[in-house]
Amino acid sequence: MNPVLVMKFGGSSLADPAKIGAVADLVIRRRDAGRRVVVVVSAMGKTTDGLIEQSRSFTTEPDLREMDMLLTAGERISSALVAIALNARGAKAVSLTGSQAGIITDDNHTNARIVEIRPYRVQKALDEGNIVVIGGFQGVSFTKEVTTLGRGGSDTSAVALASALDAPECEIYSDVTGVFAADPRVIKEPAKIAALGYQEMQELAEAGAKVLHPKAVEFAKIKGTVINCKNTFAPEAEGTLIANLEGRVKPRVVGIATEEKVVLVHAYEDNAGSLATVESVVAFAESRNLRVKQIAFHRGRGQGMVGSFIIPEKENYHLAPLLREMKDRFGDALDIHEQFGALSLVGAGITERHDYLEQSIRLLKQHGIAAGSFHTTSFRISMLIERGRLAEAARLFYDRFIAPNIL
Ligand code: ADP
Ligand code: ASP
Ligand code: MG
Repeated sequence: MNPVLVMKFGGSSLADPAKIGAVADLVIRRRDAGRRVVVVVSAMGKTTDGLIEQSRSFTTEPDLREMDMLLTAGERISSALVAIALNARGAKAVSLTGSQAGIITDDNHTNARIVEIRPYRVQKALDEGNIVVIGGFQGVSFTKEVTTLGRGGSDTSAVALASALDAPECEIYSDVTGVFAADPRVIKEPAKIAALGYQEMQELAEAGAKVLHPKAVEFAKIKGTVINCKNTFAPEAEGTLIANLEGRVKPRVVGIATEEKVVLVHAYEDNAGSLATVESVVAFAESRNLRVKQIAFHRGRGQGMVGSFIIPEKENYHLAPLLREMKDRFGDALDIHEQFGALSLVGAGITERHDYLEQSIRLLKQHGIAAGSFHTTSFRISMLIERGRLAEAARLFYDRFIAPNIL
């Protein structure tokens, strides 16, 4: 039997009827080349942003279950329209919601995790000769509640489906030709990365490279699904392959990722009569569904712990009232710093020695750019720096670490 190919199209690829038509033509070309095709779609254009905006007319703290009911409508529309466009071209196609496609998640509304895929209906529709078009970004919980997977989550739907259907490859189409060494909105015409290992891609995505959702990579690893990031508007151009790559001989920075807005919160346990104990701040974050990127605790000079929390603005649907609430609850024991953006250097082995970190600190100092924190993992050096100079810093790091390695 022909292998399954999963093709995922993002919002910009489906922004209007002409673009949906072009997507349908591309899907038919792939099918005609002998593949059984599953298409996973995002909502059209900026539909999701528009729906979130509409909910804000009523409240800044909407019920998250209702947000999921609202947001899943976007992908329902685009999946049906793509199926209609395919049918109109004489191709047999059927659309399915995430729930109908058997995507089972936990019940964490607006940020659910896929726990299982039961793709029987997808298999059956494929066996009957259909192109199957599935609404990305959504699933259903064990209690039959509709859920969404977090912003950008259609990538995760696509790769998880590819893994469940034993598809060797998953093509992710967006408005750029692959994964670049930096965000093209920050650095003009950055170099394209030809191939990346799973871990490197995951770290880049977690650090803010929007082109692929970090959770998507987790699913690719399970069966070694190859992800091919391509451009809808230049589908024959070579994109970026993400696969199980052997270690590089020499560690180097493969990419730079930035995040425009992050909030740094420090909690000081040792202020007299402090309410901000390690557990109470963590419990607050948990009870209010606050998405925190990085938590660290260490002992300060006094008796208690000093905690630091890095909170990404874009992953929290209503951060401002939550920060106010935190300040009310914990008072002086908390410092909230809102002036930072994040910049990360990614590459396997770049922290095996400390020269990259040392150069980074020096480079910022030389240019008088203020840093809020540095943090390393085995694949990444992340730093918080003053937001207004993020793009300038990205350029400095690009010229220092990426440009000299471009062949
Ligand atoms: P889609 O809507 O198709 O899912 P996204 O907007 O989520 O597309 O992702 C594509 C966008 O990601 C690009 O337009 C680009 O501006 C941005 N981007 C950020 N970092 C990178 C990077 N390192 N490589 C490529 N694109 C990036
Ligand atoms: N439509 C959703 C979003 O805008 C999911 C996605 O694009 O992947 O976040
Ligand atoms: Mg996306």
